Amino acid sequence: MLVVFKIDGLTPGEAFTLEVQAQTKPFRDNTVLAASWCQPKHAWLSSDGETWTPSGAGTLSADKVMSYTIKATAPQMSVAWGPPFVPSDAEKLLTEIAAKLPEAKRFELAKTRGGRPVNGIRIGDENAPHQVWIGSRQHAWEAGGSQVGRGFIRWYASDEAKELRAQTCLHYIPIMDVDNAAIGAGGKESIPRDHNRDWADEPIYPEVAAAQRMIRDIHAKHGLDVFIDLHNPGASDPIFFFGPFAFERMTGLQQRNYQRWIGFAAANITEPRKVDPKYRFATYVKTDEERGRMSSGWVRANTGDFTISVTLETGWNSPLMSVEGYGKVGAGLGRALAAYLSENPRRE
Ligand SMILES: [Zn+2]
Repeated sequence: MLVVFKIDGLTPGEAFTLEVQAQTKPFRDNTVLAASWCQPKHAWLSSDGETWTPSGAGTLSADKVMSYTIKATAPQMSVAWGPPFVPSDAEKLLTEIAAKLPEAKRFELAKTRGGRPVNGIRIGDENAPHQVWIGSRQHAWEAGGSQVGRGFIRWYASDEAKELRAQTCLHYIPIMDVDNAAIGAGGKESIPRDHNRDWADEPIYPEVAAAQRMIRDIHAKHGLDVFIDLHNPGASDPIFFFGPFAFERMTGLQQRNYQRWIGFAAANITEPRKVDPKYRFATYVKTDEERGRMSSGWVRANTGDFTISVTLETGWNSPLMSVEGYGKVGAGLGRALAAYLSENPRRE
């Protein structure tokens, strides 16, 4: 579970100790949640729900209790596993971007199985020469994916991106698995199906089905240039892209475009850590059938030779991976996109 809770009755200026135990009981079958999900190196603190700062590093006792010493900055403080991003943050962000760019169009992608809206925003003319789709939170507990998305879309709405916006139609979705994000559930490997294994012929989740319909439609009418799914899975992961399994065997347009992309990504995503300049491959997904049900694989199979479809993976469990740190990754992603689209990826 992605935990955020409030502590009341604090005296500003005084320190208190927070002790946290890891899960000991399985949450499913024989699987016990990894301790880092409950006991990150730093607890994250906020007194206004907007700014989040890491506590000092916790200390783990011999009986596996993590203790954080926290200095109170307000009578009531929120404590979290990492900087959170919940549906109300998505709503605020979309409102902010729509106010800044009057030409942008908000849209409801779908209503979830739980009846919640999955919202997005379209920026740019439908018939623009370049078409881009960027989204996050197919895995609900990967809140950093939405933090990167927020950094990206704020950059995209800034003056620096004016030229890119004039040439591009962008579809952006801050949270895909709204149902699990709303209740603080993990989502990964969820039942009945992992959200990012649902890109099948008959998806279980209405928002996946709707994204497939829209992406097919965009590609049929205008051609999709770039699809990027933002993830944030591993406690100590670096920042890297999962590329196409067939990358080594690719030729021509495909090979050139994926190579250009990773080059521009490496040149532009440099803070708070440099992105890995080589693709990694999600080899833990074993069968072609399952690989085809991942969003990036489905998009590759349903678009063109010039389309690139990748996932950007960030780690967490580090004070570097703050709201600001993730934001810088997102801005770097935007700059990489501008550089990539500065030459038409459809040219032979
Ligand atoms: Zn993920």
